[in-house]
Amino acid sequence: MPQKRRQRLKWTLTLIAGGLIGATLAVFIAMVLAIKVAGTELHNYAVEFLEQDERIASNIDAIVAAGNTSPYPECSEQDLQFLRELLFRSPYTKDIGRPRGNALLCSAVIGRLPVPLERKRTAQTTYRNRDIYYNVDLAIAPGQRAEVIAEGKTNVVVSPDIFSEFSRPPMLFAGAIVDHQKKHVLQMYSSSSHQLPLDLLLSDKPVRRHGMLYHPHCSSTRPDCVLTAISIRDVRRQSMPFLVAAALLGAAVAALIILYVGLIRRRHRTLSAQLRRAIQRRQLEVLYQPIVEVSTGRVACCEALARWRDEDAVPIRPEVFISIAEEHGFIRDLTDVVVERVASDTRTLLAEHPGFRVSINISAYDLADPGFPERLQELLATSGVVANNIGLELTERSTTDKEIVVEAIRKLRSFGHVIYIDDFGTGYSSLGYLHELSVNMLKVDRVFTNTIGTDSITSAILPQILSMAAALELGIVIEGVEHQEQADFLRSQEGQIFAQGWFYGKPMPIHQLRAHVASTHQHS
Ligand code: C2E
Ligand code: CA
Ligand code: CA
Repeated sequence: MPQKRRQRLKWTLTLIAGGLIGATLAVFIAMVLAIKVAGTELHNYAVEFLEQDERIASNIDAIVAAGNTSPYPECSEQDLQFLRELLFRSPYTKDIGRPRGNALLCSAVIGRLPVPLERKRTAQTTYRNRDIYYNVDLAIAPGQRAEVIAEGKTNVVVSPDIFSEFSRPPMLFAGAIVDHQKKHVLQMYSSSSHQLPLDLLLSDKPVRRHGMLYHPHCSSTRPDCVLTAISIRDVRRQSMPFLVAAALLGAAVAALIILYVGLIRRRHRTLSAQLRRAIQRRQLEVLYQPIVEVSTGRVACCEALARWRDEDAVPIRPEVFISIAEEHGFIRDLTDVVVERVASDTRTLLAEHPGFRVSINISAYDLADPGFPERLQELLATSGVVANNIGLELTERSTTDKEIVVEAIRKLRSFGHVIYIDDFGTGYSSLGYLHELSVNMLKVDRVFTNTIGTDSITSAILPQILSMAAALELGIVIEGVEHQEQADFLRSQEGQIFAQGWFYGKPMPIHQLRAHVASTHQHS
């Protein structure tokens, strides 16, 4: 298969796989959310149920209490009339009667029975002097069952459909009377023939069991509880539009991330190819930023900073192209090009000012290359520049592989180079280690310069670095000086301090630097 088609196939497969993973992940998250929402709905449903239950219960309590206040002889015509009027006023009861033991003497609906009607004993519970019978076979409607509440000489048949208006499919409910002490649960109402696991009412905790979500909830004033439930399948069915949207969104986001990463990688690959070409063609530029001796204002040194524009003439930041060169293993070639350019650029300047020093940034990879010190001498020798004029800046990051670094620095110093630790204070700094490395100078990172004149905690660090450098006999360059105030502060410090930053001059082409050096040397 041709390379291009294989590439396209790989891309398509990656996109499909990524899209699927994104969609699955999003559906999973959406389903977790949907279940959470369903849990809240079950809770609200249960709360409403109990509110309704308490409203009905207090109404029935009032009816039972009123039934007991009848001033008439039990089951007399006036008594029956009294009960009928009560029944008429109560929306939740089907009949009001006069029981004796397990038998019914008379009721508002049936009237007086010639012979007391014996009833089968059914499950029963007692709550505040009131007997609550469950599933009673009704005399008024044979074959029908309902709850009967009895107290004193009155009993009422609770309408079996008091909660019929209350159904909210696909949610289910089952109301029950629960004796938490005896762990006894008596089912009263249910929204379906589906038997809910009422034992859950004893725990009062939402539970997920056998593909169902359950939410138990009990009244704080009565023994009444409700268990609301919904099946996960119904939750899924209800949330289907949401799940589909999540799947699409997840797939789209995953695909976008893959495309974005792919584009960045491609751009990176092509940038690295362009950079490699630019290095081969010696197309890097170098700018020079003055480094000033603070006490005299003289430009005593400068730092060489590489510049590169890609093939569309877009300037690429040094941090970006340096790390591309490092990642792709051609930073040595880049360093060589910079060294060559510095050597040829600065020949005249160095001839005019033999004590002047140009520092070059060196990568950790250069330092790890055992042939680097010698190669550097060869490159310099072709332009007649001597090692004394060339400083080398290493970042603390590059001071990781200690033995190799110590050896490389020893060699470079023996040739006459001055060694700087760059961005001091931002990497990990071990003072003892600094001493072992036997560098000459510290370049203090601009984060510390920015604290001059502020009362931030780190502002106390700069004076400490200065005194530590003095104790270790290390020279100091303060980076990133941008304001007069910072320069004034540095001038007020004891000892020789060098500084670099926009206040003294931005990175500039070599001819500008030469003019600049000449002018500061005249003035001093
Ligand atoms: P660095 O070695 O810390 O270089 C100093 C950076 O600070 C330069 O950024 C410089 O332009 C900038 N700078 C100077 N004065 C000020 C100031 O007053 N304020 C602010 N905000 N910034 C200031 P640049 O040129 O973009 O270089 C960035 C980094 O790229 C350098 O940091 C260095 O680590 C690396 N680099 C540049 N050229 C080379 C090179 O030839 N070889 C290697 N290995 N690395 C290089
Ligand atoms: Ca530097
Ligand atoms: Ca620096």
